[in-house]
Amino acid sequence: MTSNEIKQLDSQNVMQTYGRFDVAIEHGVGSTLYSPEGKEYIDFTSGIGVNAIGYANKKWADAVYAQAVKLQHISNLYYSEPYAKLADVLTKRTGMKNVFFANAGADANEGMIKLARKYSFDKHGKGKSTIITLNQSFHGRTITTLAATGQDSFHNYFFPFTEGFKHVQANDIDALKKELSDDVCAVLIEFVQGEGGVIPLDQEYVKEVSDLCKANDLLLLADEVQTGVGRTGTLFAFQQFGVTPDVISFAKGIAGGLPLGGFMANEKCSTVLTAGTHATTFGGNPVAAAGAVEVLNQLDDSTLNEVIKKSEYIQEQIKSWNIPYIVEIRGKGLMLGISVKDAVPRDIAQACVENGLLVLTAGTDALRMLPPLTISYEEIDKGLNILKTVFDNL
Ligand SMILES: *Cc1c(COP(=O)(O)O)cnc(C)c1O
Repeated sequence: MTSNEIKQLDSQNVMQTYGRFDVAIEHGVGSTLYSPEGKEYIDFTSGIGVNAIGYANKKWADAVYAQAVKLQHISNLYYSEPYAKLADVLTKRTGMKNVFFANAGADANEGMIKLARKYSFDKHGKGKSTIITLNQSFHGRTITTLAATGQDSFHNYFFPFTEGFKHVQANDIDALKKELSDDVCAVLIEFVQGEGGVIPLDQEYVKEVSDLCKANDLLLLADEVQTGVGRTGTLFAFQQFGVTPDVISFAKGIAGGLPLGGFMANEKCSTVLTAGTHATTFGGNPVAAAGAVEVLNQLDDSTLNEVIKKSEYIQEQIKSWNIPYIVEIRGKGLMLGISVKDAVPRDIAQACVENGLLVLTAGTDALRMLPPLTISYEEIDKGLNILKTVFDNL
């Protein structure tokens, strides 16, 4: 099918819930994508932080294929090898105690929220169930994770939202202290806020939040759906913030492009969810789990170090352009935001697409770059050249 034929089928048959860019993608190699007509796009998006090891990754495709022809699904009422192996790798590389597998980010966060509330219920009974989250956070699109999301624009239309969430200013420890009433059971953070604008939390603030949680028997919950799986240069972002959360959710990059999510708990929280209290049909799917094991294989220390080096390279290049529209570059690893003034991020992203570069936006003022972690320097240079040309022609 041609791009136009695809677009026509979409507009006739698909709910128009996405502000799609005017481009169809047919296949990819490395970190380069191609339209049905063969037009080339450098990928600074990885989907949205999903395709961690790029496209046409042979070892990953082999692992997925081998599992697909062996056993594509079995109910979680039975044991199977792929999710068990994956859980073993995750706990060994994070020091967490155990894992629950979900399907994506929002349902991983829902499960994590359930765990936090049950932990509190088991210990204190009813009434201590409020979870504090941060302004500008993003936690998903279900009714509960929308309520958890600290952005008013998401609290619309779908009333009533789940109760029991309070939002406070990020990087302001006094604002958090003020909200620590007796009904609070947990604090939920993203180490680098993604959708909210690529805003990293201060290390000192994170340490203080963790100390406050420990002192008040609150759980520290980390939404690592976007920051996890090597994105920030360590396997999970908490590993460079000097704290260990009680529960950590993950999704996006974990299976290299297949739908999979979940959350990991420390020892203290490892037995809160028991048989019958939480479940999902597809969670921990064998094909996705086999893909995830291969993703984690490839994200070894040397690849993670490369993530940091590529990040520094990209930041140095962009700074050296001295473009007046660019206010700052922020983020960690290959999760980078370029905040701009006197220009609309979406318009810049649109111009980039027209010139052969896929790039995202975040918050109100930023372009967001989430390239595959395995992107080559040649592809980075091609992408940056396009970005510079677009800025030069604003
Ligand atoms: C994308 C994202 C989610 C939601 O994940 P879905 O897979 O779209 O449900 C939740 N939290 C964060 C931090 C995210 O970036």
